[in-house]
Amino acid sequence: MSGTRGAAVLAGALVVLAAAACGSTSSAASPASASGGSPGAVDVVASTNVWGDVVSAIGGTKVRVTSVISDPSADPHSYEANPHVQLEISRADVVVTNGGGYDDFMGKLISASGTKARMVDAVDVSGKAADAQAANGRLNEHVWYDFASVGKVSDAVVSALSAADPSDAATFRANALTFRQGLDALTAQETAARARTQGAGVVVTEPVPLYMLQALGAVNRTPSSFAQAVEDGTDVPPSVLKQTEDLLAGGSVRALVYNAQTSGAQTELVKSAAQSHSVPVVPVTETVPKGKDYLTWMKANLDALTTALTS
Ligand SMILES: [Zn+2]
Repeated sequence: MSGTRGAAVLAGALVVLAAAACGSTSSAASPASASGGSPGAVDVVASTNVWGDVVSAIGGTKVRVTSVISDPSADPHSYEANPHVQLEISRADVVVTNGGGYDDFMGKLISASGTKARMVDAVDVSGKAADAQAANGRLNEHVWYDFASVGKVSDAVVSALSAADPSDAATFRANALTFRQGLDALTAQETAARARTQGAGVVVTEPVPLYMLQALGAVNRTPSSFAQAVEDGTDVPPSVLKQTEDLLAGGSVRALVYNAQTSGAQTELVKSAAQSHSVPVVPVTETVPKGKDYLTWMKANLDALTTALTS
């Protein structure tokens, strides 16, 4: 029966999609999504719906935002964009990229498009690359998990939108103030939670949530060889997998935080090891899930991490 075979082929395709990890080279196609905007609105292209949502919060009806990646099954690290996105970029007034090597496909499209758009690069604005260099560490490019960085990006967005549309500058400033109040509330929640989460051990499958975990005072106990293998998109050696499982069994880890958007077979193994030792498992994602905006998404992440780390 062709129906059965079709189902088997489909299951195979889903496995391939699920195997795409941070740093791997596979891609998942997803259509760009545009939202909002009255006639004459500022045209903005953002590489993911994270920065797209921040722009929408600040621009309101005065902007038309296209987020290149909003599909929860697409891995932004390995995304390959289509010609339609290049056309959007060529017409844009403002382009927001994450930078830091996260969304390099945007750089290629920007130069190929010949766009005159004003550019906002979130990692540049955050100052995190310079921090990492000063500390001789590797940059964690997931700066949207750091509220101070997002605050700086929101200022840069106000400047870019105001330059493109000076007559609405006051609206952008007012909307940004409301957005910053939301960020301040999250920062206050994080600071308050830290009294209870300070020192709690965690294992992460990827660096995506690390800025938030650091703010909570959690101690990253992930074996560096495990993190390195996942980062490089190579197979985690059995000995390293065993070491990670032993760690989860040993009682010093309060939570396993894993990247649900890019999880592969090996993170699934670590996940079941955590579950079998009653270590809480907290999923996090690279992009804003359906039905949430940036602030409600981050509140949910913070609530989930705090609950796991104090359970
Ligand atoms: Zn990532």
